[in-house]
Amino acid sequence: MISEVDILAIGVHPDDVELSSCGTVLTHIDQGYTVGLLDLTRGELGTRGNAEIRTQEALDAAEMMGAKFRVNLDMQDGLFRNTEENIRKIIGVLRACRPKIVLANAVEDRHPDHGRAAKLVVDACFYSGLMKLETRGEDGELQERWRPQAVYHYIQDKNLKPDFVVDITGYLEKKMAIIQCYRSQFNDHESNEYAKEAKTPISGKDFMDFLSAKARGFGREAGFELAEGFNVARYPGVKDLFVLK
Ligand SMILES: [Zn+2]
Repeated sequence: MISEVDILAIGVHPDDVELSSCGTVLTHIDQGYTVGLLDLTRGELGTRGNAEIRTQEALDAAEMMGAKFRVNLDMQDGLFRNTEENIRKIIGVLRACRPKIVLANAVEDRHPDHGRAAKLVVDACFYSGLMKLETRGEDGELQERWRPQAVYHYIQDKNLKPDFVVDITGYLEKKMAIIQCYRSQFNDHESNEYAKEAKTPISGKDFMDFLSAKARGFGREAGFELAEGFNVARYPGVKDLFVLK
């Protein structure tokens, strides 16, 4: 059930938010902000698992994160495009939950879906603010226009240079535990079957080391122990220089 939230974290695949910006979601929930989760596809083209398994995994992860809701727009994994239908689907959710901040996929990444989804979300956030673009909610009523004040793109696989980082010190262990909800995506390294299971870029033991090394790298330059990196299309600005760490 969609409710109003401060932050809407959007991923084209269930697990994108967890892998890249879960620490940020956790720290903001602890600071009293509300967060909703929106998946565009069920990740049905992924090498491992299937749509049904991944849906359950995503719901388990959302509960562990403390999200207010998690919805899925059932776009076609890999084959979704920037169409009117897809833009309207996202606008319907934006207008229903009225987030001030949207977290979206990386502008460019190893997986081509990520960059395409980033553009689709940015477009939907813009058009959602236009009064004459009408959409109806689940109750059939006309929805009020809504434009989030910012879209921040979380950095996932590629080593993009962040425009800012968010301190996630103290949250890495919980982030890793939440990622483990996606049991179908990771090999059980202790199992005898490990050698026979399908391998993907994220299924190996080295992947968790990569995630923590990345958080250390993003943190180091800002003086935090651990951080997650983001890009933003416009200049990030502050009124008070002391807000910057
Ligand atoms: Zn992905």
